[in-house]
Amino acid sequence: MTNPEATNAELASAYRTILSVVERTEPRIAEATRAELADQRSSLKLIASENYASLPVLATMGTWFSDKYAEGTVGHRFYAGCQNVDTVEAVAAEHARELFGAEYAYVQPHSGIDANLVAYWAILAQRIESPALQQLQAKTVNDLTEDDWEQLRRTFGEQKVMGMSLDAGGHLTHGFRHNISGKMFHQRSYGTDPETQLLDYDVLREAAREFKPLILIAGYSAYPRRINFATMREIADEVGATLLVDMAHFAGLVAGKVFTGDEDPVPHAHVVTTTTHKSLRGPRGGMVLATSQYAPSVDRGCPMVLGGPLSHMMAAKAVALAEARTAEFQDYAQRVADNAKALAEGFLRRGATLVTGGTDNHLVLVDVSGYGLTGRQAESALLDAGVVTNRNSVPRDPNGAWYTSGVRLGTPALTSRGFGPDDFDAVAGLIVDVLSNTTPTVTATGAPGKAKYTLGDGVADRVKAASAEMLDAHPLYPGLEL
Ligand code: PLP
Repeated sequence: MTNPEATNAELASAYRTILSVVERTEPRIAEATRAELADQRSSLKLIASENYASLPVLATMGTWFSDKYAEGTVGHRFYAGCQNVDTVEAVAAEHARELFGAEYAYVQPHSGIDANLVAYWAILAQRIESPALQQLQAKTVNDLTEDDWEQLRRTFGEQKVMGMSLDAGGHLTHGFRHNISGKMFHQRSYGTDPETQLLDYDVLREAAREFKPLILIAGYSAYPRRINFATMREIADEVGATLLVDMAHFAGLVAGKVFTGDEDPVPHAHVVTTTTHKSLRGPRGGMVLATSQYAPSVDRGCPMVLGGPLSHMMAAKAVALAEARTAEFQDYAQRVADNAKALAEGFLRRGATLVTGGTDNHLVLVDVSGYGLTGRQAESALLDAGVVTNRNSVPRDPNGAWYTSGVRLGTPALTSRGFGPDDFDAVAGLIVDVLSNTTPTVTATGAPGKAKYTLGDGVADRVKAASAEMLDAHPLYPGLEL
């Protein structure tokens, strides 16, 4: 990678020009854009799913590729004039294949949810539609009668998925009732051990044997531990399931070779989905990696579940994936994991309770019930002190998914700014300062409320001052002066 500070300085004049032009058309947007940079620069961003993409990645999003329709795939488009989009998509897919060692990469999904929808339909097509068509001895879908279609629809509607439960750290799209995945499939979720809060592969295996899912999903949004994907594949094979791994959260750790061997999903899963904007540090978007067996069905993501690809975002994905193939990125990914360890140790040393007792990935889940707080109160009090986090359920959460009892913290964003283990230890200290000086307000019945709280006098100012010192020492986009 070239010197990022020099690149930022070069791009500064471009951004200044862009903002002054936008100002003439809609000043409120120029103002909000400047304000967003100021907010991001001045807060401790600990949201585990966020990051700071490089300026070359951000700049690549804002081009005329946004104006081009390109439904279809490389060399096979439903629109004319797609030769440059073909280049963009082919380069992004090539980087993705080579970075992750995947047989096939599909870079069109607009987001992580879209990537999972593509994966679901690809697996259904491969496992249900193709065998059904063979059974009906029809060569193409056009040969199907109305009765055949009815039978096929009924078969689609009877399929089963099994993923990690939301309160154990799974994602909405892994079969949650209020997501289409929980409505289009019969679903059963697996949780974590009540004592250790860790995945218990024997219990999971038993549950899979009993439920026999078509799709076994591994992956999480809030589980602070690594997963053994070789074991997950063994379980999938035993019950005849397709193994789908959603690595949206930890793709950067896979790309950066922190997760290797059994912890690398790509050699073990049939299909892997991801976002590109979390630990991978790219533009907002999604991606699907697959074995060549599933590739032809994944390739039909558009038009099956996607509209026209966002070519400008595919271009930015290509730039981000090129960045992720560098030695600097591997160093970054290792620092993300080391920093998470330092953050967890900082909490434990100060007496906080962490789900699973620690971390070995990029995130830490603090159980705030010991401070007498709900996750919602903790999240709000921290925000008052300039610390941006998000509340999250803990396993078997008595406060449910809205108020919750946890706060999820991740290291990818601040690591991109250059924060190291000592900084993260200090961050743990600041958070404990806020949590132990926040008091829940009492309801009319004398019970603690779930939403309101009072933050002790002077705490917010004290924490903001200490964070400002750290943030100043690790500037965001150094060289970018607007
Ligand atoms: N999958 C997982 C595991 C996630 O954590 C998320 C986002 O939080 C998604 C999918 C969805 O990603 P997006 O918000 O890009 O649709």
